[in-house]
Amino acid sequence: MNNILYEGKSKLVCSGVDENSILIRYKDTATAFNGEKKAELLGKGRLNAEISNLIYAYLCDNGIKTHLIKVIDDTSVLVKKAEIIMVEVIIRNVAAGSFSKKYGVTEGAHLNNVVVEFSYKSDILGDPMINKSQITSLGVATADEIKEMTSLALSINDLLCSLFMKAAIRLVDFKLEFGRSKGEIILCDEISPDSCRLWDVDTDKKLDKDRFRRDLGDVLDGYSDVLRRLKNVR
Ligand code: UDP
Repeated sequence: MNNILYEGKSKLVCSGVDENSILIRYKDTATAFNGEKKAELLGKGRLNAEISNLIYAYLCDNGIKTHLIKVIDDTSVLVKKAEIIMVEVIIRNVAAGSFSKKYGVTEGAHLNNVVVEFSYKSDILGDPMINKSQITSLGVATADEIKEMTSLALSINDLLCSLFMKAAIRLVDFKLEFGRSKGEIILCDEISPDSCRLWDVDTDKKLDKDRFRRDLGDVLDGYSDVLRRLKNVR
Protein backbone atom coordinates (compact mmCIF):
# COMPACT_ATOMS: atom_id res chain seq x y z
CA MET A 1 0.00 0.00 0.00
CA ASN A 2 1.36 3.40 -0.93
CA ASN A 3 1.86 5.88 1.96
CA ILE A 4 -1.12 8.10 2.64
CA LEU A 5 -0.01 11.71 2.16
CA TYR A 6 -3.37 13.35 2.75
CA GLU A 7 -6.99 12.33 3.33
CA GLY A 8 -9.53 14.53 1.57
CA LYS A 9 -13.32 14.50 1.91
CA SER A 10 -13.86 12.06 -0.94
CA LYS A 11 -10.37 10.90 -1.90
CA LEU A 12 -7.14 9.59 -0.42
CA VAL A 13 -3.92 11.01 -1.80
CA CYS A 14 -1.03 8.53 -1.58
CA SER A 15 2.57 8.46 -2.72
CA GLY A 16 3.03 7.45 -6.34
CA VAL A 17 5.76 5.52 -8.11
CA ASP A 18 8.29 8.39 -7.95
CA GLU A 19 8.46 12.02 -6.83
CA ASN A 20 6.64 13.19 -9.97
CA SER A 21 3.49 11.13 -9.38
CA ILE A 22 0.81 10.51 -6.76
CA LEU A 23 -1.86 7.86 -6.39
CA ILE A 24 -5.44 9.01 -5.87
CA ARG A 25 -7.93 6.61 -4.35
CA TYR A 26 -11.64 7.41 -4.56
CA LYS A 27 -13.54 6.88 -1.29
CA ASP A 28 -17.18 5.97 -0.75
CA THR A 29 -17.71 9.03 1.46
CA ALA A 30 -20.22 11.61 0.25
CA THR A 31 -20.11 15.12 1.71
CA ALA A 32 -22.06 18.30 1.08
CA PHE A 33 -22.37 21.80 2.53
CA ASN A 34 -18.63 22.03 3.21
CA GLY A 35 -18.59 18.69 5.01
CA GLU A 36 -21.62 19.34 7.28
CA LYS A 37 -23.60 16.52 5.65
CA LYS A 38 -21.74 13.25 5.36
CA ALA A 39 -22.53 9.62 4.55
CA GLU A 40 -20.89 6.44 3.34
CA LEU A 41 -22.38 5.33 0.02
CA LEU A 42 -21.06 1.90 -0.77
CA GLY A 43 -19.75 1.84 -4.35
CA LYS A 44 -19.65 5.61 -4.93
CA GLY A 45 -15.85 5.63 -5.19
CA ARG A 46 -15.87 2.99 -7.90
CA LEU A 47 -18.65 4.72 -9.85
CA ASN A 48 -17.00 8.17 -9.71
CA ALA A 49 -13.61 6.73 -10.65
CA GLU A 50 -15.05 4.95 -13.69
CA ILE A 51 -17.08 7.97 -14.82
CA SER A 52 -14.17 10.36 -14.35
CA ASN A 53 -11.73 8.01 -16.12
CA LEU A 54 -14.07 7.69 -19.07
CA ILE A 55 -14.44 11.50 -19.29
CA TYR A 56 -10.68 12.00 -18.95
CA ALA A 57 -10.02 9.51 -21.77
CA TYR A 58 -12.47 11.41 -23.97
CA LEU A 59 -10.91 14.80 -23.12
CA CYS A 60 -7.41 13.40 -23.72
CA ASP A 61 -8.52 12.06 -27.14
CA ASN A 62 -9.67 15.60 -27.88
CA GLY A 63 -6.35 17.23 -27.05
CA ILE A 64 -6.91 18.36 -23.44
CA LYS A 65 -3.81 17.97 -21.26
CA THR A 66 -4.61 16.29 -17.95
CA HIS A 67 -2.84 14.95 -14.87
CA LEU A 68 -3.85 11.33 -15.60
CA ILE A 69 -0.94 8.93 -16.10
CA LYS A 70 -2.62 5.56 -15.67
CA VAL A 71 -5.71 3.87 -14.27
CA ILE A 72 -4.46 1.47 -11.57
CA ASP A 73 -7.62 -0.32 -10.44
CA ASP A 74 -11.34 0.35 -10.07
CA THR A 75 -10.85 3.06 -7.43
CA SER A 76 -7.28 4.28 -8.00
CA VAL A 77 -5.49 6.39 -10.57
CA LEU A 78 -1.85 7.36 -10.88
CA VAL A 79 -1.55 11.06 -11.71
CA LYS A 80 1.16 13.66 -12.28
CA LYS A 81 2.08 15.57 -9.15
CA ALA A 82 1.01 19.09 -10.12
CA GLU A 83 0.97 22.30 -8.11
CA ILE A 84 -2.77 22.81 -7.67
CA ILE A 85 -3.95 26.33 -8.49
CA MET A 86 -6.09 27.29 -5.51
CA VAL A 87 -9.20 28.28 -7.44
CA GLU A 88 -12.17 26.23 -8.53
CA VAL A 89 -13.39 27.14 -12.00
CA ILE A 90 -17.17 26.81 -12.24
CA ILE A 91 -18.93 26.73 -15.58
CA ARG A 92 -22.70 27.19 -15.84
CA ASN A 93 -24.84 26.46 -18.89
CA VAL A 94 -28.16 26.63 -17.05
CA ALA A 95 -29.11 28.42 -13.80
CA ALA A 96 -28.99 26.18 -10.71
CA GLY A 97 -27.59 25.83 -7.20
CA SER A 98 -25.83 28.80 -5.62
CA PHE A 99 -26.29 30.92 -8.79
CA SER A 100 -30.08 30.51 -8.67
CA LYS A 101 -30.11 31.28 -4.96
CA LYS A 102 -27.82 34.30 -5.16
CA TYR A 103 -29.51 35.97 -8.13
CA GLY A 104 -33.10 34.80 -7.48
CA VAL A 105 -33.53 32.84 -10.72
CA THR A 106 -35.46 29.60 -11.07
CA GLU A 107 -33.36 26.48 -11.41
CA GLY A 108 -33.34 25.45 -15.04
CA ALA A 109 -33.69 29.04 -16.31
CA HIS A 110 -31.98 29.79 -19.63
CA LEU A 111 -28.75 31.83 -19.47
CA ASN A 112 -27.87 34.20 -22.33
CA ASN A 113 -24.25 33.14 -22.17
CA VAL A 114 -22.08 30.54 -20.50
CA VAL A 115 -21.07 31.74 -17.01
CA VAL A 116 -17.49 31.38 -15.78
CA GLU A 117 -16.96 31.79 -12.03
CA PHE A 118 -14.00 31.32 -9.72
CA SER A 119 -14.02 30.25 -6.07
CA TYR A 120 -11.06 30.46 -3.76
CA LYS A 121 -10.21 26.91 -2.62
CA SER A 122 -10.39 27.16 1.16
CA ASP A 123 -12.47 24.86 3.35
CA ILE A 124 -12.01 27.19 6.34
CA LEU A 125 -13.43 30.15 4.40
CA GLY A 126 -16.11 28.02 2.67
CA ASP A 127 -14.69 28.42 -0.88
CA PRO A 128 -15.75 32.08 -1.35
CA MET A 129 -16.35 33.45 -4.84
CA ILE A 130 -13.33 35.43 -6.05
CA ASN A 131 -12.86 37.69 -9.06
CA LYS A 132 -9.91 37.98 -11.43
CA SER A 133 -8.33 41.03 -9.82
CA GLN A 134 -8.69 39.45 -6.39
CA ILE A 135 -7.01 36.26 -7.68
CA THR A 136 -4.03 38.20 -9.06
CA SER A 137 -3.88 40.51 -6.03
CA LEU A 138 -3.45 37.53 -3.72
CA GLY A 139 -0.91 35.87 -6.02
CA VAL A 140 -3.15 32.82 -6.40
CA ALA A 141 -2.70 32.84 -10.19
CA THR A 142 -1.39 35.25 -12.82
CA ALA A 143 -3.58 37.06 -15.36
CA ASP A 144 -2.22 34.76 -18.09
CA GLU A 145 -3.03 31.68 -16.03
CA ILE A 146 -6.59 32.93 -15.46
CA LYS A 147 -6.95 33.50 -19.22
CA GLU A 148 -5.67 30.02 -19.96
CA MET A 149 -7.88 28.33 -17.33
CA THR A 150 -10.91 30.18 -18.71
CA SER A 151 -10.15 29.16 -22.27
CA LEU A 152 -9.50 25.53 -21.27
CA ALA A 153 -12.67 25.42 -19.16
CA LEU A 154 -14.77 26.71 -22.08
CA SER A 155 -13.24 24.17 -24.49
CA ILE A 156 -13.86 21.40 -21.95
CA ASN A 157 -17.45 22.64 -21.60
CA ASP A 158 -18.03 22.36 -25.37
CA LEU A 159 -16.59 18.84 -25.42
CA LEU A 160 -18.55 17.70 -22.35
CA CYS A 161 -21.85 19.24 -23.48
CA SER A 162 -21.62 17.29 -26.71
CA LEU A 163 -20.61 14.04 -24.94
CA PHE A 164 -23.41 14.30 -22.38
CA MET A 165 -25.98 15.35 -24.99
CA LYS A 166 -25.30 12.07 -26.83
CA ALA A 167 -26.15 10.37 -23.52
CA ALA A 168 -29.39 12.41 -23.29
CA ILE A 169 -27.98 14.32 -20.31
CA ARG A 170 -27.93 18.11 -19.92
CA LEU A 171 -24.69 19.42 -18.43
CA VAL A 172 -26.13 22.15 -16.19
CA ASP A 173 -22.93 23.22 -14.40
CA PHE A 174 -19.65 21.79 -13.17
CA LYS A 175 -16.43 22.53 -11.34
CA LEU A 176 -12.88 22.13 -12.63
CA GLU A 177 -9.47 22.33 -11.00
CA PHE A 178 -6.17 22.97 -12.71
CA GLY A 179 -2.53 22.52 -11.74
CA ARG A 180 0.89 23.66 -12.88
CA SER A 181 3.16 20.93 -14.21
CA LYS A 182 6.41 21.49 -16.10
CA GLY A 183 5.42 24.99 -17.18
CA GLU A 184 1.98 23.91 -18.39
CA ILE A 185 -1.51 24.18 -16.98
CA ILE A 186 -3.14 20.77 -16.84
CA LEU A 187 -6.59 19.57 -15.82
CA CYS A 188 -6.64 17.95 -12.37
CA ASP A 189 -9.20 16.32 -10.05
CA GLU A 190 -12.27 14.32 -10.91
CA ILE A 191 -15.13 15.11 -13.27
CA SER A 192 -18.05 13.10 -11.93
CA PRO A 193 -21.63 13.46 -10.65
CA ASP A 194 -20.03 14.80 -7.44
CA SER A 195 -18.69 17.82 -9.34
CA CYS A 196 -21.29 18.30 -12.10
CA ARG A 197 -25.03 18.90 -12.26
CA LEU A 198 -26.44 16.41 -14.73
CA TRP A 199 -30.12 16.36 -15.68
CA ASP A 200 -32.00 13.98 -17.94
CA VAL A 201 -32.78 16.02 -21.09
CA ASP A 202 -36.40 14.94 -21.28
CA THR A 203 -37.50 14.84 -17.64
CA ASP A 204 -34.93 17.11 -15.89
CA LYS A 205 -34.43 14.25 -13.42
CA LYS A 206 -31.32 14.96 -11.38
CA LEU A 207 -28.60 12.32 -11.75
CA ASP A 208 -25.91 14.03 -9.65
CA LYS A 209 -24.91 14.98 -6.10
CA ASP A 210 -28.05 17.09 -5.64
CA ARG A 211 -29.72 13.72 -4.99
CA PHE A 212 -27.56 13.55 -1.86
CA ARG A 213 -27.66 17.26 -0.97
CA ARG A 214 -31.46 17.38 -1.24
CA ASP A 215 -32.46 13.80 -0.29
CA LEU A 216 -33.99 13.11 -3.69
CA GLY A 217 -33.79 9.31 -3.50
CA ASP A 218 -31.14 6.68 -4.09
CA VAL A 219 -28.02 8.68 -4.88
CA LEU A 220 -26.11 5.91 -6.61
CA ASP A 221 -29.02 5.04 -8.92
CA GLY A 222 -28.36 8.40 -10.58
CA TYR A 223 -24.59 7.85 -10.74
CA SER A 224 -25.03 4.34 -12.18
CA ASP A 225 -27.40 5.72 -14.77
CA VAL A 226 -24.80 8.33 -15.82
CA LEU A 227 -22.13 5.62 -16.15
CA ARG A 228 -24.40 3.29 -18.13
CA ARG A 229 -25.37 6.06 -20.55
CA LEU A 230 -21.79 7.27 -21.04
CA LYS A 231 -20.60 3.74 -21.73
CA ASN A 232 -23.19 3.47 -24.49
CA VAL A 233 -21.92 6.57 -26.28
CA ARG A 234 -18.15 6.15 -25.79
N1 UDP B 1 -19.02 22.21 -7.11
C1 UDP B 1 -18.07 21.28 -6.70
N2 UDP B 1 -17.33 21.54 -5.59
C2 UDP B 1 -17.48 22.67 -4.85
C3 UDP B 1 -18.46 23.60 -5.26
C4 UDP B 1 -19.21 23.34 -6.39
O1 UDP B 1 -17.87 20.26 -7.35
O2 UDP B 1 -16.76 22.84 -3.85
C5 UDP B 1 -19.84 21.95 -8.31
C6 UDP B 1 -21.28 21.59 -7.98
O3 UDP B 1 -21.45 20.19 -7.86
C7 UDP B 1 -22.02 22.14 -9.17
C8 UDP B 1 -21.19 23.35 -9.62
O4 UDP B 1 -19.89 23.14 -9.08
O5 UDP B 1 -22.05 21.20 -10.22
C9 UDP B 1 -21.76 24.67 -9.15
O6 UDP B 1 -21.97 24.62 -7.76
P1 UDP B 1 -22.73 25.80 -7.00
O7 UDP B 1 -21.91 27.03 -7.05
O8 UDP B 1 -24.11 25.92 -7.53
O9 UDP B 1 -22.70 25.41 -5.50
P2 UDP B 1 -23.50 24.35 -4.65
O10 UDP B 1 -24.92 24.38 -5.06
O11 UDP B 1 -22.80 23.06 -4.94
O12 UDP B 1 -23.27 24.85 -3.25
